[in-house]
Amino acid sequence: MSKVVCVLYDDPVTGYPSEYPRDGLPALERYPDGQTLPTPEAIDFTPGTLLGSVSGELGLRPYLESLGHELIVTSDKDGENSEFDKHLADAEIVISQPFWPAYLTAERIARAPKLKLAVTAGIGSDHYDLDAAIEAGITVAEVTFCNSISVAEHVVMMILSQVRNYLPSYKWVIDGGWNIADCVQRSYDLEGMHVGTIAAGRIGLAVLRRLAPFDVHLHYTDKHRLPAEVEKELNLTFHPSVQDMVPHLDVVTINAPLHPETRGLFNEELIGTMKRGAYLINTARALICDRDAVKRALESGQLAGYAGDVWFPQPAPADHPWRTMPHHGMTPHISGSTLSAQTRYAAGTREILECYFNGNPIRDEYLIVDGGALAGVGARSYTATAKSGAA
Ligand code: NDP
Repeated sequence: MSKVVCVLYDDPVTGYPSEYPRDGLPALERYPDGQTLPTPEAIDFTPGTLLGSVSGELGLRPYLESLGHELIVTSDKDGENSEFDKHLADAEIVISQPFWPAYLTAERIARAPKLKLAVTAGIGSDHYDLDAAIEAGITVAEVTFCNSISVAEHVVMMILSQVRNYLPSYKWVIDGGWNIADCVQRSYDLEGMHVGTIAAGRIGLAVLRRLAPFDVHLHYTDKHRLPAEVEKELNLTFHPSVQDMVPHLDVVTINAPLHPETRGLFNEELIGTMKRGAYLINTARALICDRDAVKRALESGQLAGYAGDVWFPQPAPADHPWRTMPHHGMTPHISGSTLSAQTRYAAGTREILECYFNGNPIRDEYLIVDGGALAGVGARSYTATAKSGAA
């Protein structure tokens, strides 16, 4: 019997939903690059329901208990006396989502001698210390592509809401006002602006594709260049480095993983090279940006706006400066946890567990660490040998 510890976010304050605004989800067969959606043998949940909160249990309980395994589901993840910590001692599998990350530090891994598999129900496994996982022989897997389009849609929403000054205008309506001048004094058209992405992987490329019809100038930088036909199709300008690209941009969107090369990248110096009044959108990972440098840039006007959904730590404390800094459009970490995305990553988690228990290989595109080394998609996206995350 294996112990599976699953750390999920809390149910809604109004209780676990008994009904939803829509019936079902659109049918998707493949992701844009041709990769198949998750293919578990079966699922025990209704697509389009809330699976990522504790009562949703990622739909895993019937399956795991039918095999005689123990499933612990908790939202209590931080601090020495947390439920997560208590169960680590004999956990064989840990599952958590980036939205409510179970920080699996080297120290915690040292206290988890039976741990064999750490699954990210989502994308981005930087909340697991990958170097420590490599050393301990733990397999790390995530559900690649499950929410890439969800995030890309959120990025486009945030770019438009920042440039058009949507959130303050909405607030005037709620407050009973009709203050046109107050609303439009910071409102522009996106058309004609220069927009660039840091990384053009699954999310970054999807953002570029979605923005192309807005008649903007599109830019990107990445470790590997996109195929020439894609550059041509989207009329992309490639820049060899972040530093080369950002001075040209009105809008910057960050879509790279957090790893030693990107940690702290947007510091005071780099932000200082951006155009005055540029917008910075970060749905990748908070630690790619220097928290206080972002706040100061908004206060000085160097940045006209900052939006995103990623924070450090998560949940962000009530006094986190990004809650109250001017001209921000932050949400909690939700872009990759739509009901649509949850259905995909719950199914993907089930697929990974079925592979593990049946002794079948986990798809290469899901693997981050395996056999004591970066593996699969992780070998391409991450860098080992320095603190990968879990900070
Ligand atoms: P991909 O692996 O498809 O793309 C990441 C891209 O980043 C790759 O093209 C990679 O390059 C590139 N890259 C890595 N390091 C650098 C660097 N130093 N400079 C420039 N480019 C770099 O991942 P996704 O697009 O699916 O996701 C990207 C990130 O977004 C995730 O790692 C995660 O942190 C975050 N995310 C956030 C979510 C949310 O809910 N807010 C949900 C999902 C993901 P190459 O492969 O060419 O080496």
